[in-house]
Amino acid sequence: MRSLPALWSRCSLRFRITTLATVVTLAVLLALAGLGGRLLGPLLTQSVDEELAVARAGAVAEVERGEPVGNPAGLRVRVLDTAGRPTDGGRPPALDDPAVRTLKSGLPVSMPGDPPVRWHGTVATAPDGAQRLVVAGTGLVGFAAVVHDASRWLLGIAGLGAVTAGLTTWFAVGFALRPVSRMRRALRTLGPGERLPLPPSEDELRALADEFNGLLARQREATDKLQRFTGDAAHELRSPVTSIRAQAEVAVTNPDPDTSQDVLTDVLTESERLSALLDGLLALARSDAGERPAATPVELVSESRAAVRRCSTESLLVRVSAPAGEVWAGATHAEVELVLDNLLRNACRYADAQVVLSVLGARSWARVVVDDDGPGIPAEHRERVFDRFYRVTDDRARTSGGSGLGLALVAELVRRRGGRVATGDSPDGGARFVVVWPAAEPV
Ligand code: ADP
Repeated sequence: MRSLPALWSRCSLRFRITTLATVVTLAVLLALAGLGGRLLGPLLTQSVDEELAVARAGAVAEVERGEPVGNPAGLRVRVLDTAGRPTDGGRPPALDDPAVRTLKSGLPVSMPGDPPVRWHGTVATAPDGAQRLVVAGTGLVGFAAVVHDASRWLLGIAGLGAVTAGLTTWFAVGFALRPVSRMRRALRTLGPGERLPLPPSEDELRALADEFNGLLARQREATDKLQRFTGDAAHELRSPVTSIRAQAEVAVTNPDPDTSQDVLTDVLTESERLSALLDGLLALARSDAGERPAATPVELVSESRAAVRRCSTESLLVRVSAPAGEVWAGATHAEVELVLDNLLRNACRYADAQVVLSVLGARSWARVVVDDDGPGIPAEHRERVFDRFYRVTDDRARTSGGSGLGLALVAELVRRRGGRVATGDSPDGGARFVVVWPAAEPV
């Protein structure tokens, strides 16, 4: 069997709000009805007390003047001695000794009976000096019935109030949630690229629809990006595969030992390009899938010197400009190696005579700058060179051999560590690439 909270959470919002409102209203009204029933008895007695006090005061004045005591309509006014015995010749009133003592002290008493009788009394001195207990009383006729009836009425009103509150809440919540139903219906039929219609009111539901539309836009952007990426990847892969196939076909149809070496060299070059492309795609796919090894501090100065040794060419001057100490970045060794190799490879590819790799460190960041004296990157392309498959000129010549994935991978690896990448003009006349990683504690 389901537990109550589980059942409750399965009910509609409208039902839950209505139930809560009804229960709370019922509880409040029942409490008020109970309070009203309890207060009604004392209120009725208080009005009787006021009447009896007036009658008693009149009788006291008459006793003190030695005049006979009159009986106002509906009240019993009696003159007793201090022991509670009548001195006015009438029958003894139904008052016991404790009641007589209370009345002598000036407090009222209620004597049980059918109906109960309420008494007020006080001691007065007759002109002959005798002490008299003057009492005024009246039967509390119909009080119990009035209190009982009033309580029943109050309970009925409480029930009716709760039902009214419940119905009002049910319809009010239904009305307030109508835009939600409309949004749900719209969502069911929403086509690709479409947005939710916004409710006219400037309320929370409009804000929700707005947020949802924002999410749809972001999703659309991500899907478009993925589609572009897949299309570009297929396009890029096709070119070396087609080339390899064409070379192979030529070699098979014209088996010429003189040209076979050239064909094999071409096939090898294209295979290498294909392999580099697949490596890049795989690395990006891993990163997209959220694969992120833990950062271990990497020392940038030694890494830069090693990278320069790996790419050094005879025709170019490639050097490192670094501070005397160490500069530590929060990344992984493989990431730093890949970033430096990509930037240096590009710089060496485009530089005329020299490439400078500078390393700089501060308290919270570690920076690498690669400058060359090549043609540079025109300002209008600088934003996009970090996009996947983007090339400044559509240059897929075998000499440059670029896949258009190198800088995208650099940006991806740096950004996922909380760093940033940028490109601009180098003081040496060519391109400048700047990579900033968050600094790390030395190990
Ligand atoms: P690729 O593998 O084609 O070099 P990248 O992502 O590394 O791809 O670079 C993207 C494009 O940016 C290159 O095609 C090139 O046009 C441009 N580029 C990169 N580095 C430099 C540089 N140092 N000087 C001039 N252009 C550059």
